[in-house]
Amino acid sequence: YESTLVLLKPDAVRRKVCGEIIARFERKGLTISAMKLLTLTPEMAAEHYAEHKGKPFYLGLIEFITSGPVVALVLTGPNAVKMVRNMMGATDPANAAPGTIRGDYAAIMSKNIVHGSDSIASAEKEIAIYFTEQ
Ligand code: ATP
Ligand code: MG
Repeated sequence: YESTLVLLKPDAVRRKVCGEIIARFERKGLTISAMKLLTLTPEMAAEHYAEHKGKPFYLGLIEFITSGPVVALVLTGPNAVKMVRNMMGATDPANAAPGTIRGDYAAIMSKNIVHGSDSIASAEKEIAIYFTEQ
């Protein structure tokens, strides 16, 4: 089993769809190993999105992800990283297949509703930003 970090972004909280998105992950068979509501500090956002520093969309991304509370979850199961990425759909909701979370809930790239770690190494790094061992 492996674990991955999921964020239900501020747009998911504002639109009150967190429950139904979490239900999809649970229905698939993933286990919620940790979960909390929090508002990211600029420092946490910079650590989370360090790989994108300097890109044209970086400042907007940091502004958006810190604009309100997010739900952070650790989901655990066989192939959890890839499974969650597949369930999320393409980064740009315009390209996300119907039936995926972004395909069903999002319309624009900057408000794509959900984050999931893109590798096991990213998952380990990201889980440590949000959760302690306990
Ligand atoms: P996330 O990391 O949020 O799960 P992702 O791994 O599918 O998304 P990344 O390439 O890591 O995509 O981009 C991080 C976020 O930055 C995306 O979710 C999106 O909101 C934003 N983003 C990425 N590329 C662009 C772009 N070209 N224009 C605007 N925003 C972008
Ligand atoms: Mg990413």
